[in-house]
Amino acid sequence: MPIDHATLSVSNQRAQNITILGATGSVGLNTLDVISRHPERYSVFALSGMTQIGLLTKLCLLHRPQYAVVTHEQDARALQNTLLQFGTETLVLVAEAGLETIAAHPQVDTVVSAIVGAAGLKPTLAAVNAGKKILLANKEALVMSGALFMQAVRRSAAILLPIDSEHNAIFQCLHDGHARTLADAGVRRIVLTASGGPFRSTPLNAMNDITPDQACAHPTWPMGRKISVDSATMMNKGLELIEACWLFDATPDQVEVVIHPQSVIHSLVDYVDGSMLAQLGNPDMRTPISHALAWPERIDSGVKPLDLCDVARLDFEPPDENRFPCLALARQVAQWGGTAPATLNAANEVAVEAFLSRRIGFTQIAQVIGDVLDQMPVTAANDLETVLAADAKARSLSIRWLAERDK
Ligand code: NAD
Ligand code: MG
Repeated sequence: MPIDHATLSVSNQRAQNITILGATGSVGLNTLDVISRHPERYSVFALSGMTQIGLLTKLCLLHRPQYAVVTHEQDARALQNTLLQFGTETLVLVAEAGLETIAAHPQVDTVVSAIVGAAGLKPTLAAVNAGKKILLANKEALVMSGALFMQAVRRSAAILLPIDSEHNAIFQCLHDGHARTLADAGVRRIVLTASGGPFRSTPLNAMNDITPDQACAHPTWPMGRKISVDSATMMNKGLELIEACWLFDATPDQVEVVIHPQSVIHSLVDYVDGSMLAQLGNPDMRTPISHALAWPERIDSGVKPLDLCDVARLDFEPPDENRFPCLALARQVAQWGGTAPATLNAANEVAVEAFLSRRIGFTQIAQVIGDVLDQMPVTAANDLETVLAADAKARSLSIRWLAERDK
């Protein structure tokens, strides 16, 4: 990812205007927590949320953004009325067009991309095309459209900073950001750490009895339900492997995954001279968010310092791909490239939703994805229409899989 340090001196003249796509979610709320600690540096320009309108209303009253965006017209009308009653000037917009408006608005400096899933793709691309500074949490957008996404970043000179904790850690361990190729920077490989989720040592024959609530009870990171299930299947690490390939211009073979149950080392970079650099910290998203918000400066995040004696030990083990077939599927898809990652992502989104609504068991998530990948030819992903068509086709095949199983 090319980054020109000369363009990075953050203006101290005025507070930076921030749009948060997905403000009512876990990453969105963590971002607002950090922003609230630095009112002189950051100002909330726009917030979006899909369903939690009560929460979005509270956030709008607290932060007084210029815009709020919701998904449904009815919610927009209700929110606008409530905000008018409280005398705020927030204008409520609707749906994808509204999201793209707040992502690309000329007054916006920074866009936090924290919508979950493919729904984040178009608004994030709108921010990229408008040349914004983008804090990327929405890994699905990059997984679906990696080549096109990165081309758009280069073309628009947007600044793309990862806030997925592993990728933020790698970014911190690379000597001067992403400016050089891995080979030029003397990097041998990138090591992504994974907690292994709640089922690292569950007996294999008990894996299909896992309930949605068990899958969402992540041992180290509190997160939204979709990413929590992805962590439990390790699809999250698979998506992150693909994300790392695009962000750091790495081949899938240059990215290793290691299970590290304590989630204290957030990832590592292995250099050719034998040095291995790691970024450590308490597992709290406010650290990567603060890092990227202030970069290249540092600000207080509210995260308590890591107490090494309290941590006492750090464990590592290789992931078991029999236990976590989603990781193997994602690695395969990373090799294939083209439309394959969009297919994998879409099938995963449908399968996770089906698991969360108790239509399928935990181990069937990988079966849906594997079967859909088998049915979809991989083609080059040269334009957004092709990516979106692969996404749509994979969703319909996944839905058909579920319907046939229900017969
Ligand atoms: P979440 O479910 O807590 O929040 C998702 C947000 O997106 C909410 O504001 C929701 O209203 C909005 N949203 C959901 N579907 C939408 C749609 N169709 N249209 C518009 N808005 C929609 O999710 P999260 O845990 O905050 O994760 C957000 C993204 O960040 C995901 O891509 C996830 O993989 C990534 N991420 C999360 C964490 C974490 O700690 N939670 C860490 C790293 C990366
Ligand atoms: Mg992560």
